[in-house]
Amino acid sequence: MQITHILDAEAATVAPAVTFKLGKLEVQSELAKLISVQPGIGRADIARLTGMARSTVSDHVQPLLDLGLFSELRARYAGRGRPSVGLTLNARAGIVLVADIGITHVRLVIADLTRNKLAEDAFTPDFKVAPEVLLDKVVSHFDTLMRENLLQSIRVRTLVVGVASPVDFENGVSVRPPIMPGWDGFPIAAWLRKKMGITVLVDNDVNLMALGEARSRLASASPLLFVKVASGIGCGIITKDGALHRGADGDAGDIGHIRAENGGNVTCACGNVGCIEAIASVPSIVGQIRQARGLEPSEEIELSALVAAGDTLAIRLVREAAAQIGEVVATLVNMFNPSCIVLGGKLAHMSDDLLSGVRAAVYRRAPPLATRRLTIENSRVGREAGVLGGIALGVDNVLSTQGLQKIQSRP
Ligand SMILES: [Zn+2]
Repeated sequence: MQITHILDAEAATVAPAVTFKLGKLEVQSELAKLISVQPGIGRADIARLTGMARSTVSDHVQPLLDLGLFSELRARYAGRGRPSVGLTLNARAGIVLVADIGITHVRLVIADLTRNKLAEDAFTPDFKVAPEVLLDKVVSHFDTLMRENLLQSIRVRTLVVGVASPVDFENGVSVRPPIMPGWDGFPIAAWLRKKMGITVLVDNDVNLMALGEARSRLASASPLLFVKVASGIGCGIITKDGALHRGADGDAGDIGHIRAENGGNVTCACGNVGCIEAIASVPSIVGQIRQARGLEPSEEIELSALVAAGDTLAIRLVREAAAQIGEVVATLVNMFNPSCIVLGGKLAHMSDDLLSGVRAAVYRRAPPLATRRLTIENSRVGREAGVLGGIALGVDNVLSTQGLQKIQSRP
């Protein structure tokens, strides 16, 4: 599946004032990103959108062509008049790897620079072993995938790793992950960089899901909030210009530990009481069902199966959770004034109760100006969101100024 960031007129315009202030490499990076989301765009269109002179556009485009990063092709079905010539990213100019390390499964994807998936694999992780053991497995799975799909001749540009944990993005370190205890402070990015010799980015899984969702929608869908409700509750924040907002330390959107209205004295894994995650996540709903029915903790309960079968207790508890999550999301709307709120994760996938609960609370609580054009929807890309976001982050990195610099030194 291919995703492109579908641009509307507003977002496609790179303000001339901005490009004027940028250095050569920064302008080339901006142009590279523009071409990557508008494949086939011609030099004249770039000049029109950026306000740059045609000759200036050519001065900046030529180095990108020389790097082998882009090709300029004649449109196959040009009409009358001058045949149109368009710029496109060279898919084979590099490969991006994505390792989405979830609690129950690890997904590995190899994609080209046009965001097409070339190969994928998955395995069940074991968090009882040291991080090195699991990451070693990731590396060897990628080696096998590259070999089996005859991709060794293409240069690997970037590896993006998603983890279900707060992440210090600058340093590529997971910080006090509640569900992966051995990973606290482990230098994921540095370890993989040393092992593989490539750029490695590590981000929170919900951040990647938010990016994947935003890039599969119109640019006007941002600012966008992606709320994931599964084993934990988290939120990824996309700014108006389509970038991830990670905050000062990478912890922005960690909404699971906001105090819930009905939180009471329920103890949360974080050590606090009354957190939204402690009363409205999937494990907490399952715990409430066990308690109500006097079941042992060892007894397996599949919440989605109960909901699908119309179990009234399960449905009531899901609705109560949805209402509580809705209150938190309504507060986020006050803070952030998003254009779109997207719901994802297991609880969103199993029924529309989360969606209706969040909608009801937001429309009741948030001010009219903030809800006038607000859309609240379930994820469009579903379980693909994280992988798509990882691919987008990886390609963005390849086309960044640092990425272009690296390609210059290692074509
Ligand atoms: Zn908590």
